[in-house]
Amino acid sequence: MAIMDYLMTHRTHPSIDEIYLALCDEIPTLSKTTVYNTLKLFVENGAAQMLTIDEKNVCYDGDISIHAHFLCKNCGKIHDLPARLTELTSLGDKGFQVNEIHEYYKGICPACAQAPEEKMN
Ligand SMILES: [Zn+2]
Ligand SMILES: [Zn+2]
Repeated sequence: MAIMDYLMTHRTHPSIDEIYLALCDEIPTLSKTTVYNTLKLFVENGAAQMLTIDEKNVCYDGDISIHAHFLCKNCGKIHDLPARLTELTSLGDKGFQVNEIHEYYKGICPACAQAPEEKMN
């Protein structure tokens, strides 16, 4: 599956549009609906996770380990961060079985913080 391949080799948390644009040359029969439906299937089967950190643009992550995400409001990139696993463990002690976490942070990433003027429009 080209879509799964793309997701596994691009750890940039691509959106449906990004995946579609990257693969439509290679697979001329591909439609956005196919991309959407395939990703939905991955998420349902636990092969990928859906990120709603950017409310205008749902993104997908082929890394299903539990981790937090940071959205840079300047460049729009999503970075992986470690989740607060200590709190998770205490949830487990209370009998909650957590298999999905959406821990979102928003702000300015280190690269943008270093050169803020260059990237601002
Ligand atoms: Zn940034
Ligand atoms: Zn991620």
